Amino acid sequence: MSNRVELVWYGEDGPRYDHGPQHPLRFERVLLTRDLIHDYDLVDGRRVAETAARTATDAELGLVHSAGYLDAVRRAGRGERGLWGRYGFGPGDNPIFTSMHEAAARVAGATVVGAEAVLSGRAEHAFNPAGGLHHAMPDRASGFCVYDDPAVGIAWLLAHGVERVAYVDVDVHHGDGPQAIFYADPRVLTVSLHQDGRTLFPGTGAVDEVGAGDATGTSVNVPLPPGTGDAAWLRAFTEIVPPVVTAFGPEVLVTQLGCDTHHSDPLANLCLTTAAYRRAAALLHDLAHRAAGGRWLATGGGGYQWARVVPRAWTLAFAEMAGVEVPDELPAAWRKRAARLGDGAVPLRLSEPGLAVSGAAPAIDRAVDEVIDAVKGLVFPRWGLS
Ligand SMILES: [Zn+2]
Ligand SMILES: [Zn+2]
Repeated sequence: MSNRVELVWYGEDGPRYDHGPQHPLRFERVLLTRDLIHDYDLVDGRRVAETAARTATDAELGLVHSAGYLDAVRRAGRGERGLWGRYGFGPGDNPIFTSMHEAAARVAGATVVGAEAVLSGRAEHAFNPAGGLHHAMPDRASGFCVYDDPAVGIAWLLAHGVERVAYVDVDVHHGDGPQAIFYADPRVLTVSLHQDGRTLFPGTGAVDEVGAGDATGTSVNVPLPPGTGDAAWLRAFTEIVPPVVTAFGPEVLVTQLGCDTHHSDPLANLCLTTAAYRRAAALLHDLAHRAAGGRWLATGGGGYQWARVVPRAWTLAFAEMAGVEVPDELPAAWRKRAARLGDGAVPLRLSEPGLAVSGAAPAIDRAVDEVIDAVKGLVFPRWGLS
């Protein structure tokens, strides 16, 4: 049983982080996740509480981002004209939207509220489903991400006396922002499992990106071939994440729980089901208690089946944090709402039937094993592991 757990809620009192109706990162994914968590009665207001987010201050954002970039985001979001393309903005992935600074600072502030909760001991675990914007760089927007809230949360923890933070990123895309920001910082371990960058945005995350200087060994990358399914993905996770995080010995575990690894996700090519999400959440929970004193700050992340998959994936994660078993059958009222907001029927259950094994499975299995061996060969000796 976990101690106090917090769901950090973005709130209705600020502008939405919303790139527009044509953009795949729909804000409704966060609303439907929160609704499902509430409809399952996971939030009891006592042991499991909902906390309001706040807007991150410029000083907090400035732990990661340059003053020039904050100024550009503010001005672009007010409709001012400028050469915003040099900061990564423009049509496509990162369109400028109204009140962009205020919305992105709220996402980052929600992650900081979660960091405050776990560091102060107010909660043992905290979850910001609006967060996980892991592609933003110090002075550039990238991959739908304006401010890098996981990196801001980690930097906030370091600025408040934490000496070691482990960041585990299971989004289908490489967690390039936190990796780049802490690449030469031995206080931060970043571990990313993702679809191989040779086949997917942002292109980085190769096994040989291991960190720099005295931080060598603190960047760990597990690039997986397209088609990787639950069993092979969980094998890679289990073989690498718990041993490396345990050897590193963090004071806080920060995780990015992108669920664009789902087989039905329109933006990528891994083949996971909710069974893998359930198992990964249990493994991360166990790791938080065994290796990080129970301090676990989780964020959302990618996931573009925003009505059918994202709320189920993150409710499974939050139920695990709360230590509560939820019924497999989804509440009928929630399914109705999700179907109305989404573009069609929503599954009946949290769990899913396993996928048929494809003819390519043995070759994918071998490729995954080669990646596991390569990671172990490069990184494990640094941590006294074999
Ligand atoms: Zn717990
Ligand atoms: Zn992603």
